[in-house]
Amino acid sequence: MVVGGGQAGLAAGYYLRRAGLDYVILDAHSRPGGAWQHGWNSLRLFSPAEYSPLPGWGMPRQDGEEFPTAGHVVDYLRTYERRYDLRVRRPVRVREVRPAGERLAVETDAGSWMARYVISATGTWECPYVPDIPGREEFTGRQLHTVHYASPEEFRGQRVVVVGGGNSAAQILAEVSRVADATWVTLRPARFMPDDVDGRVLFGVATRKAAGGAGGGVSDLGDIVMVPSVREARERGVLQPRSMFVRLTDRGVRWADGAEQPYDAVIWCTGFEPNLTHLAPLLRGWRQGKVATEGTRSVDETRLYLLGYGDWTGPASATLVGAGRTAKATVTDIAFRLQGQS
Ligand code: FAD
Repeated sequence: MVVGGGQAGLAAGYYLRRAGLDYVILDAHSRPGGAWQHGWNSLRLFSPAEYSPLPGWGMPRQDGEEFPTAGHVVDYLRTYERRYDLRVRRPVRVREVRPAGERLAVETDAGSWMARYVISATGTWECPYVPDIPGREEFTGRQLHTVHYASPEEFRGQRVVVVGGGNSAAQILAEVSRVADATWVTLRPARFMPDDVDGRVLFGVATRKAAGGAGGGVSDLGDIVMVPSVREARERGVLQPRSMFVRLTDRGVRWADGAEQPYDAVIWCTGFEPNLTHLAPLLRGWRQGKVATEGTRSVDETRLYLLGYGDWTGPASATLVGAGRTAKATVTDIAFRLQGQS
């Protein structure tokens, strides 16, 4: 049983089907595409289509675009799922997975299933993280997280703070600063990757790491990929992060030196938590955040696998190409265990 039908869930489905195992993918969305259905309007892949294949069939190039749009990725995932006739049921939301003797009981809004193994591939998009900064309740301007950001137009002429040191913050700052008076704030000093590093290089590094190669991982190169819009923002001199303000006030922010500055909006590009609440009955003592894993298998509940959540579930596992690699290892392990049980 796979919970979640985004890129990671489909990659698992591909290998489960190829291994001839009995499986179903339950997905809460009513359409294929996972989180790619929700990105902001200008969101694109970091790399050309041929560097982002799911197993078996690579992403076709998008006419006239070197870096595919989110819409193109959604089309790819929809076609992929049809091409391999993957057994996806949607919309089905898994409420909880709990132990039931030899099996795991999967309770959903469309009935119950029993499974010998569960692969959770529910992503992070539904669990936006916002740091607990004082004054968040007092601020009378607009606060939104990356998940609710669509385009810079709604901020035209406003004073905006963009918070965060990752790719979402850098890309959103790059476009908002063209139409608004934008300030960039980071919790830690920003780490830019070299200009010539894009998804191609990152996937190469992750591949070597996955193969057990020596040397650093992707994060050693920096946090922010210098995509064209971010490079252009640097040319305009707007890539100048300030350190975090100490609190929000009713009208804006207060800096560490006590100075206050008015703002109309705060955009929290502060990341996500893994979406794992449906697993709480299986993981005693788990509150929020990561789960202890060996490879992709939960250490505490060995019938549970976690796929696609980030580097803690395999090198680059939150990317299309990395999802395929970790899905293969996961299904190989499950098939091996099932053989041992039969
Ligand atoms: P999701 O796509 O979120 O899919 C999870 C699915 O699980 C959803 O369909 C959801 O409905 C379902 N679900 C959730 N909870 C339940 C439940 N309880 N029951 C049933 N179903 C459930 N990735 C790349 O590969 N290349 C890139 O270049 C790239 N660039 C990016 C740039 C930015 C700025 C950002 C923010 C992300 C980028 N990503 C990139 C990452 C990518 O967008 C996500 O990591 C990816 O969509 C995660 O896939 P997933 O399958 O793990 O999760």
